[in-house]
Amino acid sequence: MQHIRNFIGGEFKEPASGLWIEKINPATGHTSGSIPDSDQRDVELAVASARDALSRWSETSPQERFLILERIARLIQERNEDLALAETNDTGKPLALSSNVEIPRAASNFRFFATAAMQFSSESHAMPDSINFTLRQPIGIVGCISPWNLPLYLFSWKVAPALAAGNCVVAKPSELSPTTAYLLGEICQEAGLPPGVLNIVHGLGFKTGEAIVRHPDIKAISFTGGTQTGKTISSITGPMFKKTSLELGGKNPCLVFEDCDFDKTVSEVARLAFSNQGQICLCGSRILVQRSIYERFRDALVQKAEKLRIGDPLDEHTQFGSLISEAHLKKVMGYIDLARQEGGICLTGGEIFRPEGRCKNGFFLRPTIFEGLGPSCRVNQEEVFGPVITLQVFEDETEALALANDSPYGLAATLWTRDLSRAHRVANKIQTGIVWVNCWLNRDLRTPFGGVRQSGVGREGGWEAMKFFTEPKNVCIQYSK
Ligand code: NDP
Repeated sequence: MQHIRNFIGGEFKEPASGLWIEKINPATGHTSGSIPDSDQRDVELAVASARDALSRWSETSPQERFLILERIARLIQERNEDLALAETNDTGKPLALSSNVEIPRAASNFRFFATAAMQFSSESHAMPDSINFTLRQPIGIVGCISPWNLPLYLFSWKVAPALAAGNCVVAKPSELSPTTAYLLGEICQEAGLPPGVLNIVHGLGFKTGEAIVRHPDIKAISFTGGTQTGKTISSITGPMFKKTSLELGGKNPCLVFEDCDFDKTVSEVARLAFSNQGQICLCGSRILVQRSIYERFRDALVQKAEKLRIGDPLDEHTQFGSLISEAHLKKVMGYIDLARQEGGICLTGGEIFRPEGRCKNGFFLRPTIFEGLGPSCRVNQEEVFGPVITLQVFEDETEALALANDSPYGLAATLWTRDLSRAHRVANKIQTGIVWVNCWLNRDLRTPFGGVRQSGVGREGGWEAMKFFTEPKNVCIQYSK
């Protein structure tokens, strides 16, 4: 049983309310611990600690910030085993995914932004008689709110640049996956991060999260989560003129052309559809396939999906674990029912899976593939955020693009083709923030990350993140008339 506490002012603290929320391991369905049911009073305390720490932290040299953030990265690496186990127990994802990908990537985020602190610079603009230079100053106290699907990875993707830029942070991980953020508090203590620089407050979104969003001394909000929550947050931060970054949902198209590398594409499409049980904002969910290869591709993909080893996430051979919660499983099952009502044909999956042994009460669902649903069906328009994909057929590039862009979302697209000119043409015209050609989740931390339309506002990654977490101030000096 894990008894999680808030990390405020460098110490672990119980919530002011004295109330706790039950934490469930979704792979077993059993209670695995408790987390603080924090409210405005805990957020107030966190802001007060951040305020006390701010003037010193914002004036530390880039080298000092580098050294501390780099130490955090190293300690995350050293505690990979603990952290990966915690991530898997909170989310039901395969342990291999937590330990080989997600925790190492969280360490990389800290290392990357540690070096960014050292390299960040700003512009100057010369005039004949004057010079402008732009100072990039920390914003002050910032709020970072993250979701449950890639817990430490997405938490660190916000917290690391915010700290590197000299801000103090009040952060909230998802109530469903709090443990690695809790352990990060221990790591920050060990790494020598001064008290109050990072404060982690656990609790419910509408209570703890909203208290962070509404706090007048928190000057910027970096949020990753659902589009509806993003709308609520921007309706609060807009009138308060808070800088806001929103990384929201997706309904990502995957365009498979007849000239693709067939075997590689089948394997990669199975991966981009079903990694983390389809619960990655970048997962493809609308698979568009050119008619000439449609049937062959469909059959090969179904076969791949059926071969995925589903079961106990702690088993090293497992490739496909449980969904995050019973409520989410019900939501995804609701979309499966809807797909059937809309006339879809279920090619594989579509039903709950019950493993034997310790996971018999877990929230498992088989990888699911539908065909026969038109582009305007709700299942092709709304984000399911689970292991449910649809196949649609297209004749040519024009139709492929029309189908791909027929969505209120615009996060990421993948193109599968060996025709270089086509790859350029389609990448240019597709309306998403990210396009991968013949690959998926190939990440360079320097590149801008984010979406358009209902997938969000703003970009994370590289200098984009450092710019978001700083305020530019232009200084103009006239030196001769
Ligand atoms: P939610 O929007 O439900 O929650 C995200 C975070 O916001 C959680 O910490 C949540 O707290 C908190 N929250 C909820 N309501 C409020 C509120 N009113 N004010 C402030 N904070 C609030 O998303 P999920 O956690 O369900 O995550 C899944 C979603 O995230 C999917 O839509 C997915 O596409 C998106 N996502 C987007 C990514 C991107 O980069 N574009 C990356 C990853 C996911 P709590 O959960 O504790 O209640």
